[in-house]
This record gives sequence, C-alpha cells and structure tokens, in this order.
Amino acid sequence: MKKIDPYLIRDDFPMFKNKVMMQGKPLIFLDNASTTFKPYAVEKAVNAYLQYETANSHRGDYDLCYNVDVKIDEARATLAKFINAEKREIVFTSGTSMSINLIAYGYGTKYLTKDDEILITQAEHASNVLPWFKVGEMTGCKINYIPLNEDGKLVPENLRKVISKKTKIIAVAHVTNVLGFIVDIKEITKIAHQYGAIVVCDGAQSVPHMPTDVKDLDVDFLSFSGHKMVGPTGIGVLYGKYGLLEKTAPFMTGGGMNAKFDMCGDVTYLQPPSKFEAGTQNIEGIYGLKAATDYLMSLGMENIRRYEDELRTYAIEKLKKNERVILYNEKAESGIITFNIKGVFAQDEATYLNSQGIACRSGQHCAKVLLDYLGEVATVRASLYFYNTKEDIDAFVSALEKGGDFLDAYFA
Ligand code: PMP
Repeated sequence: MKKIDPYLIRDDFPMFKNKVMMQGKPLIFLDNASTTFKPYAVEKAVNAYLQYETANSHRGDYDLCYNVDVKIDEARATLAKFINAEKREIVFTSGTSMSINLIAYGYGTKYLTKDDEILITQAEHASNVLPWFKVGEMTGCKINYIPLNEDGKLVPENLRKVISKKTKIIAVAHVTNVLGFIVDIKEITKIAHQYGAIVVCDGAQSVPHMPTDVKDLDVDFLSFSGHKMVGPTGIGVLYGKYGLLEKTAPFMTGGGMNAKFDMCGDVTYLQPPSKFEAGTQNIEGIYGLKAATDYLMSLGMENIRRYEDELRTYAIEKLKKNERVILYNEKAESGIITFNIKGVFAQDEATYLNSQGIACRSGQHCAKVLLDYLGEVATVRASLYFYNTKEDIDAFVSALEKGGDFLDAYFA
C-alpha cells in the first residue's frame, strides 16, 4: 500500500504549481465534489491531440485518423480496467447527467408502462431525479422514494420495505453528493435482482474516490464524470452490462452510430458502444480522461480512499470542538462534510470563507428534496480530495472559528 503524500502530489497540478490565489490569499480548494483540479498529465494528453494528432475518428483511411481510433480504443480499455468492466461496455458521454438521461430515455421510456414503478431516494442529485420524472411523464409510471434512515442514509432494509414486482428501475447514488454516505450497492443490487428490477447507479461521487468493481457490485448501469476525477469537463462514462446496452435504444442518432440506412428510413445501428456515440466524439476529452484514469490508478484507488478517510476524520474531530458548527453527516464515510454555523445563513458563511481564500459550496447542492428532509433551506459543503492537506483543514477550521466576528462586522 502506497501512502498518499499530498505535498508531493501537488507538484503534479498546475493549480498548485501556479500558486493560484483567491481574494489575495493562497487558494484552499474544498469544493472537489463539484469539480477537481487537473494534473499536467491530463494537459499533456489533451495537448498531444491538439498539437500533433488532430484528426477525426473513424472517418478516414489515413494514418492520423487511424491513430485517433487506436487512442480511443486504448482509452476505452483503460476505463474498462478501472471499473473492472469489458471494453465494449464503456460508452463515452459528456458526463453523469448525459449518461443517466441516456438510460432514462433509451431504456426507461422504452420498457416501462403506467403499471411500473421507479424507486429513487430523497438524497439524489437533480441529474438522478429529473430524467426519471421525464420517464414518469412519458410512460405514466410512478416515481416512488425509498425512505432514508434517521441519518439520511439509504440502507438495504429500507429498500426491502418498499420494493415490489412493480419496481423496474432503482436509481440511486453510490455516494450521495450532500451527505456523502456510501450506499451498499452490492446488497441493493441483490435485492433489486430478486424482484427483476435493474439498478442504475450514479457514481459521480464514488468512482473518483474509491475502488469500483462493477462485476462485484453486479450493478446494471453506472455513470460518472471525468471532471470530478481529475479529468477534463465535458467527458464521462456510461457503463452498462452488454446485454442491457444491446436492449437500450440510442438517445441520439447520426453519424458514427449507424451501419446503414436507406431513403425509406430503414436504419441499422452499430453495436454498443458505438450505437450511443453519435456525431464526433469529444476526442481531446477522451485523451484527457484516459490520462486522468492512468494517473488515479498510479496512485491507487484504495490509497486515495484511505487518505481521504484519514483527512475526513481529522476534520470532523476538529469541527466537533466548535460549538457553533452544526454537522449534518458526522457518520458519513466519504470526504464530503456538510454543515452550517448556528445563526448564519449558509451563503453568507461561504462568502466569508471566500474572503479567506477558501472555496466551499453553499446552497442546495442540486439535491433540493434532501433539504426538506434535513429541514434546512441551505447548507455549506466542504469536499476533500487526495491533494488536500491537514494544513488546508486547519485553515478551514480556524476560519470557521472567526466567522462570527466577520459576519457581525459585515452586518453591523
Ligand atoms: N450526480 C451526483 C451525485 C453529482 O454530485 C453530480 C455533480 N454534482 C452529478 C450527478 C452531475 O454530474 P455532471 O454535472 O458532471 O453531469
């Protein structure tokens, strides 16, 4: 096991090497659930495409073009290895939102009827709620909620209480983006399959932070985004079991995804994954995502998970000493820490942190129904990654101690 050294790792990231400041102070970036910094390796890979290897994929017979095809194929193989899938089960999308929409439209609207049910939870991100509402609107199927436990976590026992033969899809996050609980997807999948339902897992907050083995989880679909795992924006993955990908209709049609078509409208699609990749792919994004994945694998996902866990424990212990901090997810297992300061509106707290050079996110975090559950209008979220240090945490905790004075002064 390799121990993560965030100080060494920072040399790999331009945002640290360039000593980026915010409000005239060294930037402390604690908004990694939103997006992450990119290492030089990603920049280099994207630049290789832009500067030496520019051509379209599967559109010509010349060497440059062939090289792009080879590189995309290699990237697919890398992503497959990363989550223990087969290469043909990796579909490149623009990110988690597109991946989930692809399944909602291509599978949900095709197979569900008014007698069916989709189960989600109150903790889901908008990208894992609204596509299912659309399926409900288009097919008449019901969208129901698996109750969360008293901590706000999805536990398999609660799925057992509500699942029935009507349940066709269970769409849940592996790690939720506000409370950061790690859901036992393996058990969820086991229960789902006993009832003939499929599990569509939102991996946006899990895949970048811990080892993922789709075969072990036996999950049917899994979505994740490149930009949350040190890769470029606008590129992500949909994993699907091959048999299910074959059954799923394409969300977009066009060039690069058909084998033939005629004037009468007779169309033969290519096999997955090409069937889902209409139009010119985000080629530089794919180059960058491969480099990001190689980078994470070189650190080791288990090492990353352990380091974040250590950092989180360190932060929680310190935050608990401040009586003004209300923690909403003390027991969560990921690097997501959600809190408020007594008597201070979340957005004001985040604005104050900004004045100290600390980037945190405040608001509803795209999980609007969860806040009804918490009984709060908004919260502040600090989210960690392997390049954060104990010094970052110390600065954050000490800023929170001083926040009251600042706000008193601000509103006087
Ligand atoms: N699901 C979860 C749990 C998320 O945290 C996010 C991003 N905040 C998304 C889905 C959407 O990801 P993207 O914006 O990259 O499509």
